[in-house]
Amino acid sequence: EGRIRFEDVHFNYDPTRGILKGISFEVPPGGTVAIVGPSGAGKSTISRLIFRFYDVGSGRVTIDGQDVRDITQESLRQVVGMVPQDTVLFNDTVGYNIAYGRPSASRAEVEQAAELAQVADFIRMLPDGFDTMVGERGLKLSGGEKQRVAIARTILKAPPILILDEATSALDTATEQEIQASLDYVSKGRTTLVIAHRLSTVINADEIIVLKEGSIAERGTHGELMQSD
Ligand code: ADP
Ligand code: ADP
Repeated sequence: EGRIRFEDVHFNYDPTRGILKGISFEVPPGGTVAIVGPSGAGKSTISRLIFRFYDVGSGRVTIDGQDVRDITQESLRQVVGMVPQDTVLFNDTVGYNIAYGRPSASRAEVEQAAELAQVADFIRMLPDGFDTMVGERGLKLSGGEKQRVAIARTILKAPPILILDEATSALDTATEQEIQASLDYVSKGRTTLVIAHRLSTVINADEIIVLKEGSIAERGTHGELMQSD
């Protein structure tokens, strides 16, 4: 379970300009599809339609055959997890940030998620660096570390569907590589939609969709797209 389908989806924010112009694709359960394309092409709009922040103009977005219009916001949020571009943390401990919204999570589960995302050292720290155990100000969390906290949160949530929205775009190359390992871990076995600027970051996707001005310009595996260039 965990199939996402877009069926001939048209969408615009205002009637003067079409944003998505007949988009069809499917992410099969456990599969990975990447949407790449220039800024403004409509990539983030696709993720907003999955969360039903907006309704499609025409066509359908379904999850496991069910129109997202017929799924409650609450169950959508259970089923779909997202690692956003910019992680905003609460001014509370990293551990609290990881466990937020999961009151039933045990301490061991939170610690394991923190381990896997490589933020276990920060678990009792506030994002701005204050250590709540020893009362000392340590290092502030960097952008990459905050991103790993968001990944830990997603590991704990374990949603069947995952959206990675340019999850490493705000980071330098070294940090990006570190995070990629955590992202690979969290996306293993889950239906994953990756939104990316560059083809080079989504080499392993089952299908890559190149979006240009709201239409699918090209699609295929990384190898196929490299050949057609
Ligand atoms: P991408 O993620 O590919 O950069 P987006 O999906 O964010 O593109 O945006 C696609 C187009 O829709 C852009 O031209 C953007 O300016 C426009 N857009 C995005 N959000 C809104 C909005 N809330 N209202 C009006 N236009 C929007
Ligand atoms: P949780 O169920 O993990 O407590 P939330 O209810 O805060 O999560 O959000 C559910 C999902 O929706 C999360 O994966 C979150 O990243 C995503 N989400 C929340 N707000 C936004 C937003 N403004 N844009 C995109 N995704 C969002």
